[in-house]
Amino acid sequence: MARYIRPNCRLCRAERMKLFLKGERCKSDKCPIMKKKGAPGKGPRARSKKISDYGIQLREKQKLKRIYCLLEKQFKIYFVKAARMKGVTGENLFGLLERRLDNIIYRMHFSSSRKQARQIVKHGHVLVNKRKIDIPSYLVKQNDEITIREKSKNLTVIKEGLKEFTSAGVVPWLEVDPDKVCGIVKAIPRRNDIMDMKDINEQLIVELYSK
Ligand code: SF4
Repeated sequence: MARYIRPNCRLCRAERMKLFLKGERCKSDKCPIMKKKGAPGKGPRARSKKISDYGIQLREKQKLKRIYCLLEKQFKIYFVKAARMKGVTGENLFGLLERRLDNIIYRMHFSSSRKQARQIVKHGHVLVNKRKIDIPSYLVKQNDEITIREKSKNLTVIKEGLKEFTSAGVVPWLEVDPDKVCGIVKAIPRRNDIMDMKDINEQLIVELYSK
């Protein structure tokens, strides 16, 4: 599967917001967004052009796609799936993205970023209901049990992620046991539960793809 290999910080700078693609570094002063660096190729004081409706919709889609570290084709597949499901397309889209196994690993604090979580899954360190799953896009279901394999529990990358663990920091639809490095998907989140995405306007993405 193809993947984005250019510097992550460029993506945040293009969107002019933190997308948290680099784990620890994103919370430090080294983050270029904190230093108020402008979009790639532009200085911090570059004047911004008036942006069209299409441009606004496009930027919103790019933001969400980049937060979940997806390429255009992968993201479009999720959108098509969401549109075919019963209910509100934008909400369905979030439900599908949140159910990705790499996202769950990140949300459970077993990695510092979704990108790292994808590597952890691909390298076969994750069990779902005691079965090894090495597909980052695997969609978890309610009550699935997620465990890090016994021999992988001491990996530095996982320990680094767990350093950030606080029970208050875990999203309410997941239950995590940091000592056993495992957790349970208590529920599939609804749109309003995904607090860290409250600034994303998914309706703009629906409008973009409906053209
Ligand atoms: Fe984005 Fe993290 Fe880079 Fe900051 S450090 S620009 S949040 S990837």
